[in-house]
Amino acid sequence: TAMAELPALARGNPIDGAYSRPTGEISAEAMSRALEDRQFSVVYQPKVVCDGGMLAGFEVLARWHHPTLGEIPPDRFIAVAERHDLIDELTAQVLDQSLQWFARHAPESRPPALGDPVTLSVNLSARSLRSHQLVETLTSRCQAHGVDPSRIVLELTETSAMEDPVASLDMLTRLRMKGFNLSLDDFGTGYSSMLQLVRLPFSEIKIDKSFVMEATRSGEARSVIRSIVDLGHSLGLQVTAEGVETAETLHYLQDTRCDLAQGFHIARPMPGERALLWLQRHTEKFANPSRG
Ligand code: C2E
Ligand code: MG
Ligand code: MG
Ligand code: MG
Repeated sequence: TAMAELPALARGNPIDGAYSRPTGEISAEAMSRALEDRQFSVVYQPKVVCDGGMLAGFEVLARWHHPTLGEIPPDRFIAVAERHDLIDELTAQVLDQSLQWFARHAPESRPPALGDPVTLSVNLSARSLRSHQLVETLTSRCQAHGVDPSRIVLELTETSAMEDPVASLDMLTRLRMKGFNLSLDDFGTGYSSMLQLVRLPFSEIKIDKSFVMEATRSGEARSVIRSIVDLGHSLGLQVTAEGVETAETLHYLQDTRCDLAQGFHIARPMPGERALLWLQRHTEKFANPSRG
């Protein structure tokens, strides 16, 4: 093949500025340049109350717009950032963009009479949990943007939280003491010790979308969902389902008494301006339910 004739290119040289052949992996240089050039932006996906659909918060998701390669999905660049010590810089950029948006628009998002203020959920990687600056970075950015940590939810995947349970407990406890809320993302996909997991100071679990997306087709998936909702509630946790793609799934979730839902059926992740329009429509609908 053409690839076999190009041995020099196969050793990780950045081709097209970002990918190396033949693995297609993104190079650390490309990622680091992209951070310097501010090629990363964020999108926001609403999370709503299953019963009634009121907004509970937004999750921030990072996006990389490469000038020639176009959109590169997080599943391809998060791991590279983690491996090459760039994840703290990425987290800082994601925080700065999203906190600015949130500080500006979240206060107008709900008449106080209608319930708790909306939250902003931010994904953290396993690597960040071992960073000495994490607590300082998070608290100082929140302070700079005038956002109280109680409005922030930090999402960690089950696997990342369990990579080093002792270090996690220490770090998560420190974050909790600063007022941040903690959420266990992609729940059900790891093989963690349940007892160790429940000792970590989480206030929410998110049922992994692989179960939720199967709910309409698979009785087994529905059983898993129902058990997670019951488990979460018996431990005093809020339960969110991610990957809600159909009205039927949402109805099933209401039936199981799942608390919150997130997914394409409710809204896709949107850039700040579109998310703001969504928010304004949503607020109007709840202020004037008859027009809804
Ligand atoms: P996640 O935190 O579990 O986020 C949910 C993923 O599911 C997002 O993919 C979202 O766009 C997608 N999604 C939402 N609703 C639906 C749906 O109804 N159907 C389907 N099929 N997908 C849905 P995305 O944005 O590609 O992010 C993938 C993962 O990358 C995230 O999974 C998260 O673990 C990681 N990630 C994203 N942004 C960041 C970040 O800023 N920092 C860190 N450390 N990780 C991030
Ligand atoms: Mg998440
Ligand atoms: Mg998830
Ligand atoms: Mg995920």
